[in-house]
Amino acid sequence: MMLRVVPKNSGQLVPLDRAVPGNESPASLFGLDAAALAGVLAGEGEPSWRADQIVEAVYHQYISDISSITTLSLDLRRKLTARGWQIGRPEITKAFQSADGTERYLIHCAGPKAETVETVWMPDGDDGEAGDGSNDESGASDETRASDETRASNETRASNETRASNETKDWRRATICVSSQVGCAVNCQFCLTAKLGLQRNLTAGEIAGQVVAVLDRHAVRVGRDRVNLVFMGMGEPFLNYDNFMAAVRLLVHEVGLSPQRMTVSTSGIVPGIERFAEEPSDLRPKLAISLNAPNDQIRGEIMPINRKWPISSVIDAVRRIRLRPHERITFEYVLLGGVTDRPEHAREVARLVRRTGLPAKVNLIAWNPGPDFHYATPKPETAEQFRAALVAEGIPAYIRQPRGRDIFAACGQLKRTVEA
Ligand code: SAH
Ligand code: SF4
Repeated sequence: MMLRVVPKNSGQLVPLDRAVPGNESPASLFGLDAAALAGVLAGEGEPSWRADQIVEAVYHQYISDISSITTLSLDLRRKLTARGWQIGRPEITKAFQSADGTERYLIHCAGPKAETVETVWMPDGDDGEAGDGSNDESGASDETRASDETRASNETRASNETRASNETKDWRRATICVSSQVGCAVNCQFCLTAKLGLQRNLTAGEIAGQVVAVLDRHAVRVGRDRVNLVFMGMGEPFLNYDNFMAAVRLLVHEVGLSPQRMTVSTSGIVPGIERFAEEPSDLRPKLAISLNAPNDQIRGEIMPINRKWPISSVIDAVRRIRLRPHERITFEYVLLGGVTDRPEHAREVARLVRRTGLPAKVNLIAWNPGPDFHYATPKPETAEQFRAALVAEGIPAYIRQPRGRDIFAACGQLKRTVEA
């Protein structure tokens, strides 16, 4: 029996503070950092440097089975297995391919509360549509150029390597969209994920594991291939804050990804934004806020969460963020035909964005449709007029092209839809 926290079709505020169980699986090596792995090995009477071998195998070589970690002695592999240890990485069980190259995966999380979550791969998908900020002249772009140069000089070395080569890969850069919860409690009225209700939180290993499973599938060479992460899949990351940030630390410290190439999106969980503002800048992803409406009245109707944390409280929290050089806050704005897409709304949005006092931009997302919704997707010219109105107000604005709508992989469409 699944736990339904959100009454279906309810516009009411949901019990967000309620403790939601995770999926603690003590036998999984995946999800443990180097220090925790050293602790496990010490318990087996093994030296701590063996932990580095497991980190290399699990997080860099994407090995998902203890028996295949050949750097460990056969005895140790057998001993770990006999003690009930497994790697326990989430695994892709089904993949749907879109005509535009996007892939949506059903990913199985092992453990006592086994669940399926969704993760999306968008090749060449970071021209702003993924909301990762790489469509602007930010510091990340400089870093990108630098890494492109490094890659060119590494070409010869790479071709001599025996590790999984990407010679056949048909993408130059990609974005992975990651889920933070199974379902969501926030109940935004335009979002398919909301219809699932909240089933449970994902653990840090399950969040980071989605990324590693996808890196494995595409033989991604971290540090050489351009991969961005967006925490914009199922769930509200800031209502699973500790696991989300623990996943970020794993992805940065153990997998080797840069937090400047990660963006987390929140519907406006004020205590979460305040905690996030205190994170060290070398661990903090970029921040996107799902604004989605020009004022409290409309936002309260389409996002019940606004009744708990209205726009002014979200803006006050955002103002605490200490941005890195060239970094901008992103505001996401879903254009609902006739509801949030009028020219006067654009002027209101511009005023709100200016109130942050921070460098910011707006990513416009034309509403992605789903069954049983009464909203409309605005015409492309309406979206363009809205964008132009923001730009005329001095606010950089971009229209995010939908990716993978045909396979229910686009924003707000993740609902474990099994039909392609
Ligand atoms: N829960 C977080 C992150 C996941 S949702 C959040 O809400 O920010 C990612 C983005 O998709 C959000 O900006 C959300 O407003 C948007 N979204 C949700 N449903 C959508 C839909 N049907 N069409 C377009 N965008 C949608
Ligand atoms: Fe949850 Fe985000 Fe969907 Fe709102 S838009 S219901 S916060 S996943």
